Amino acid sequence: MDYKIAVIRGDGIGPEIVNEAVKVMETVGAKYGHSFGFVDVLMGGCATDAVGKSYPDGTAETCKACDAVLLGAVGGPKWGSDKPAEQRPETALLAIRKDLELFTNLRPATMRKGMEDASPLKRETAEKGFDIMMVRELTGGIYFGKRDRYQTEDRGEEATDLMTYSEMEIERIGRQAFELARLRSKKVTSVDKANVLATSRLWREVMHRLAKEYPDVTYEDMLVDNCAMQIVRDPGQFDVVVTENMFGDILSDEASQVTGSIGLLPSASLGAQAPGLYEPIHGSAPDIAGQDKANPMATILSVAMMFRYSFKLAAEADAIENAVDAVLGEGWHTADIAGDPEKLVGCRKMGELIRAHI
Ligand code: NAD
Repeated sequence: MDYKIAVIRGDGIGPEIVNEAVKVMETVGAKYGHSFGFVDVLMGGCATDAVGKSYPDGTAETCKACDAVLLGAVGGPKWGSDKPAEQRPETALLAIRKDLELFTNLRPATMRKGMEDASPLKRETAEKGFDIMMVRELTGGIYFGKRDRYQTEDRGEEATDLMTYSEMEIERIGRQAFELARLRSKKVTSVDKANVLATSRLWREVMHRLAKEYPDVTYEDMLVDNCAMQIVRDPGQFDVVVTENMFGDILSDEASQVTGSIGLLPSASLGAQAPGLYEPIHGSAPDIAGQDKANPMATILSVAMMFRYSFKLAAEADAIENAVDAVLGEGWHTADIAGDPEKLVGCRKMGELIRAHI
């Protein structure tokens, strides 16, 4: 098959890690008989420097004409919060999610073999292993609600952020979670704060309705505060965890931390239609940019997610994930992962080792 991929290299370590991921795609293509066409898309601080806007006109249209989008990372101190919104890279990230209608964010948090020592969890908990798929609603809730700030007569200034969810928004993310669970261990944990919030009570009602449609999937409700505790106490109990935008933002960061390395974690953002957006969860790491020190694994594993979820190429996705595990199993590591100094490699070499295993 032929696939067209929009490639946003971005800022900082973005170009280095994306280079390795693109080479991995070419290796997989050669082995499995696919061809990939790459369309470079300028976005982020580099776009601000080139054309004065972090999200140049036509970015969404270019991406929509492709089968998937691969993003390195955007941002850096040069384009900080003192700059006008249209020049800030974060504005571009929110805009592309909105324009591509990416309402589902998938963040796997997997304890990879050999990484147990890097995990902050108790050794016995880490050794038991875990493989959580965090499913976060990405375009609704408090981050997109009406906000206001105003002066009161007797309480000084006041601010408000409104959290709104509709049945439609809850149902479409819920369905994604149940469908995903069917491809995995068939368990969904829906996280809310139904003992306090009206949005959570609606969330729970809709999830219960959906659960009846998926009798083959085990379903449970969990309050968000309990979930935050369970992730560090017993992460092995989870399969698919689905939750609203803000809870998902916080819990997915917590789940990623317990895996032991930020440089290993991929993500996918999906809508009802193509293209999906695939990116590592880390940022542009300006402190190590241009030094061949970045770990390209999170970006390479994001390509595996692209193959699995956008192209339905499960064998190709497995080949990439197995190659990453094999390289880690042999003790090779980049500077973000502790290990044998003799097996410390840079970004380019790490990419080469992974390709050799494919
Ligand atoms: P960061 O993730 O860029 O870096 C945090 C720490 O982790 C740094 O010490 C960095 O060197 C290290 N690190 C991150 N990725 C690594 C990798 N692949 N290999 C080795 N080490 C790695 O977070 P930050 O420093 O808070 O943010 C830097 C910039 O990135 C900011 O401008 C921020 O806005 C932006 N950012 C972008 C995205 C995105 O593009 N989606 C996400 C988060 C942050």
